Amino acid sequence: MQYLLRHCTICKEIKAIQNGSSKFFIREMLTGYLILYTYQFYRGYSVFFCKKHVSELHELPKKFRIQFLADMSIAAESVYKAFHPKKLNYELLGNTAPHLHWHIIPRYENDPIPQRPIWCIDSSITCALKMKPTHNEIVTLKTKIIDSYKIITQRRAV
Ligand SMILES: [Zn+2]
Repeated sequence: MQYLLRHCTICKEIKAIQNGSSKFFIREMLTGYLILYTYQFYRGYSVFFCKKHVSELHELPKKFRIQFLADMSIAAESVYKAFHPKKLNYELLGNTAPHLHWHIIPRYENDPIPQRPIWCIDSSITCALKMKPTHNEIVTLKTKIIDSYKIITQRRAV
């Protein structure tokens, strides 16, 4: 386990969030951290990291697992209401980083392959250098998601 934690890219990213050096960090939730994805081919593409280093949902304690799914749902709703895509995709894969993390991907009208998963587009296109947002774009995108999150959670708290 210690070996995994030391070499896990997501555990490393979480450490960066915790020490304040992650420019993509959006918000902490009870069971995880919401971040903006490094490449913005899909405007608003975000990722929700689990606070626990496990690779499968069933490895989470039941109460934590239910909260993790609820938190992911609110994170996804925040992205949806910030950008109003045609469709939102939720993907929990973990094939290259075996630490639970949800990909929250807005799909728009101009999507090149709207009926297929985003992974069908070559990463040389979706992860091209020009798809990296500038500092100002990062701030703008994060602010939209944070504002959306606040509206959703304040409305439910009443
Ligand atoms: Zn990890």
